Amino acid sequence: MNAKPRGRQFFNNPGPTNIPDRVLRAMDRPVLDFMSDEFLAIQHACHAGVKRVLKTDQTLYMYNASGHGAWEAALANLFSAGDTVLIVETGYFSLSWAEMAVNLGIKVETFAADWRTGADVAKLAERLAKDKAHEIKAVLTVHNETATGMVLPVADIRRAMDETKHPALLLSDTISSLASMEYKMDAWGVDVTVGGSQKGLMLPTGMSLTGVSNKAIEVSRKNKAPRHYWNWELMNGRAPQKFIGTAPVHMFFGLQESLKMLEEEGLDAVFQRHARLADATRAAVRAWGADGKGPQLYGQAKDRLSNSVTAVMMPEGVSSDGFRKIAIDRYNLSLGGGLGPLMGKVFRIGHMGDLNEPMLLGCLATTELAMKTTGVPFAPGGVDAAIASLAN
Ligand code: PLP
Repeated sequence: MNAKPRGRQFFNNPGPTNIPDRVLRAMDRPVLDFMSDEFLAIQHACHAGVKRVLKTDQTLYMYNASGHGAWEAALANLFSAGDTVLIVETGYFSLSWAEMAVNLGIKVETFAADWRTGADVAKLAERLAKDKAHEIKAVLTVHNETATGMVLPVADIRRAMDETKHPALLLSDTISSLASMEYKMDAWGVDVTVGGSQKGLMLPTGMSLTGVSNKAIEVSRKNKAPRHYWNWELMNGRAPQKFIGTAPVHMFFGLQESLKMLEEEGLDAVFQRHARLADATRAAVRAWGADGKGPQLYGQAKDRLSNSVTAVMMPEGVSSDGFRKIAIDRYNLSLGGGLGPLMGKVFRIGHMGDLNEPMLLGCLATTELAMKTTGVPFAPGGVDAAIASLAN
């Protein structure tokens, strides 16, 4: 069967996500000189809008780069080779950020945690209390671990740091939570927030950002480590754009529209919509696994399940990739795969960004259909459970 499936693809990857037609149309316009007043006004409005989403009054830098670029910007500006950072293990993305730090010569201590139940903040506080010499320069966190569908209580981590009077910086990767789940950079005492364009902001991949606290700016000024493209000081010197190189004007056209959409709906309503869709997804998965033989939620800590992505553990011996291949080839439903050690064992349903009830129900019903045609064992009633949850 080589025919291309008809109809729209149902895209339920946890990033990139669906780009709304309004954003696509806003980007469909002629280019502007990135030094022109017309573009500068758009860029400044976007900066102000992103700061409202981050809930920060501090400094924002944006990069022509995917999320990895913003990860590197945070590390390159704040640390020198030989500095120690503590990374809270959450899953594949915490490991990848740690790997990047190691490659930059930074000493990384991993605060180990079970991926399915999440890090114990009280134990993290104990570890910080033991660091009497304050060798740990920063605590690195992934607010929403896209690989496991688990959230980390970043505000609790700040509280633990304050209670132990530890002066380390707090860094938080919000790539898959920004504009989908509550996040309060300043109120939570986050020093650097890392974000990307292609998830809750509903844009193409390729632009990323860091919200930076005044304290982190001071640390970066004193840091002698060589850096160029990510250099915040250098970016300040490139005012008014604060961009090194050519600013991606079409990304800003799209961002202006996506910010408008988020603010028309209202951020709290956006978060509530994500919570509703996530609840329905979890209801479906719990029903599929109700007999103990079907797929199960990967995350096991009820209060830490993500509202933007759900990771689903396949029954023992059943390949999540074989099932995903049927879903896309036969039914045009794109689901996320398992990452790192979860490859083949987990599939992920992205429910973030430009998504509504019928789109989610289409995804869940087609997931059931693909499980049936692939021979994945599951208990009936998943879609009914999702409908009941949404109708609530
Ligand atoms: N951090 C998290 C939590 C992510 O989900 C991702 C990508 O999915 C990244 C970092 C890396 O971002 P990018 O793929 O845009 O470089």
